Amino acid sequence: MKTLDHDAVVIGAGPAGLLTAWTIAARRHDVAVLEEHPKVGEPDHCAGLLSLSGLKILGLEPPQQVIQNTVRAARIYAPSGRSLLVERGRHEAVVVDRRKFDAWLAERAVQAHASIITGVKVRALKTHDGSVVGVETLEDGAVVQRKAIVTIDAEGVQGRLSGSVGLPMIHRTSKYPAYQYEVQGADVDDDLVEMYYGRQTAPGFFAWIIPLGDGRARVGLASDFKSKPRLEAVMRHHPIISGKLVKASVLRGIGGTVLVGLPVKKTFMSGLVVVGDAAGMVKATTGGGVVFGGISGKIAGKTAALAVSERDASARSLGRYETSWRSLLLGQMRAMYLAQRAISSFSDRGLDSLVKNADELSLTDTVKREGDMDMQGTTIAGLLANPRTMIALLSAARYISPRF
Ligand SMILES: Cc1cc2nc3c(=O)[nH]c(=O)nc-3n(C[C@H](O)[C@H](O)[C@H](O)COP(=O)(O)OP(=O)(O)OC[C@H]3O[C@@H](n4cnc5c(N)ncnc54)[C@H](O)[C@@H]3O)c2cc1C
Repeated sequence: MKTLDHDAVVIGAGPAGLLTAWTIAARRHDVAVLEEHPKVGEPDHCAGLLSLSGLKILGLEPPQQVIQNTVRAARIYAPSGRSLLVERGRHEAVVVDRRKFDAWLAERAVQAHASIITGVKVRALKTHDGSVVGVETLEDGAVVQRKAIVTIDAEGVQGRLSGSVGLPMIHRTSKYPAYQYEVQGADVDDDLVEMYYGRQTAPGFFAWIIPLGDGRARVGLASDFKSKPRLEAVMRHHPIISGKLVKASVLRGIGGTVLVGLPVKKTFMSGLVVVGDAAGMVKATTGGGVVFGGISGKIAGKTAALAVSERDASARSLGRYETSWRSLLLGQMRAMYLAQRAISSFSDRGLDSLVKNADELSLTDTVKREGDMDMQGTTIAGLLANPRTMIALLSAARYISPRF
C-alpha cells in the first residue's frame, strides 16, 4: 500500500476546509486538501448570500467575477402578506456564485502552497492508540494512506468520518432538506432579499428570493420535509411569490441540506479537528454556514499549524481550537437557535401578530441600530432588552402551537 506523509490533511474543499488549508499553508506547513468531486465548488449547494461584515472578519475580498450582486436590505413576509423591511441604509451583503467563490478560495490556498487533490474520496480515518494519524483513500484504483500530524474533517453537512472515531455527529433532526431554482425574468427588486415565513409555505423554516440582478434570482425553500414539491407549489400558488414569477423561466435547480441546530458538543480529539458544516457551525436562523464555517476553519488552521510546529497534536493541544470557537461563536449560535425555535413554534396567526406588532412598535429600529447579519445573537439580545418586544411576543404567545 502506498503511504504519503503530510503535516496536515484536510478532508473536503468547501469554504471551511479551504480556509483551514490556506491558514496552515500560510504558516509554511505542508497541507493536502482531498476533495471527492473532480472540480472544487461543484456541484454547488448554496444561495451565495454573504454579509460584507462576515467577509471582513474572514479577511476576504472576493474579486468581481465571483460577485453576482450586492444587496442592501431584507423584506420579511408574514403568512398574511404583511411585511417588514429590515435595512440599515447601506449595502449589507453580496451574492456570490459559490462555484466561483470556492474555486477562488482554492486558488488562494494553492498560492500559499497548499496541495488540492480532486477526485479523491476519503474512505476512512486511520487511528493508532486512540489518535487519528491520517486518512485512507482510493486513488487511481489503489488504496493510499496519507499520514498527517493533524487531520481536519471539513466534509460538510453529510459528514460521517468524525462519528466513526467516536466524536458526536449532527443529529438528523437538525438537517432540513432544501431546494432552490435559479430563474430569469422575475419581477423582483435587485437589491432586496425576501424571506417568506408560514406553516403553509415552509413549515419549520422559510422560503427565499435572492436577486442576482437583471430579473435573475434564486428562489428557494427549506422546511422539515418535502422541500422541492413545496417550493414548486409556492412558485405556482403563493399569492406574492407566484406574482413575481409570472414571466420567469427556470434556468437550473439544486438540492441540498441546511442545518438548523446547534454545533456538535465536541469538535476535537487527539490528531483530529472538525470544522464547518461537519461540526454544525451555522446560523440556525438562516442555515448560512460560510462565514461561521470559515471562522471555525481559520481558528482550526491556526491551532493545527501550532500543533505541527510543536509536534504535539494531543487532545490537549487541539482542544485550543474548541476553546477559541466557543468563546467567539457559541453564545451567538445559542441565541439564534432559540430564536429559530421560537419562530417555528408560532402558528401562522402568531407570525402574523408578531410581524404586525413589530411593525407598529417600530422594532426594526433596534435592528437598524444594532443589526448584524452574522452575529445575530447581539441583535436578539438588544431586541429582548426592549420592552416593546415583550409586548409583541406576549400578544403573539397565545398562538404558540409547537409542531411535533
Ligand atoms: C440551498 C442552500 C442554500 C444555502 N445558502 C447559503 C447562503 O446563502 N449563505 C451561507 O452562508 N450558507 C448557505 N448555505 C449553507 C452553506 O452552503 C454551507 O454552510 C457551507 O457550504 C458549508 O461549508 P463547508 O466547507 O463546511 O462544507 P461544504 O461546502 O459542503 O464542503 C464540503 C466538501 O467536502 C467534500 N467531501 C465530503 N466528504 C468527503 C470525503 N469523504 N472525501 C473527500 N471529500 C469529501 C464535499 O464534496 C464538499 O466539496 C446554504 C445551503 C443550502 C443547502
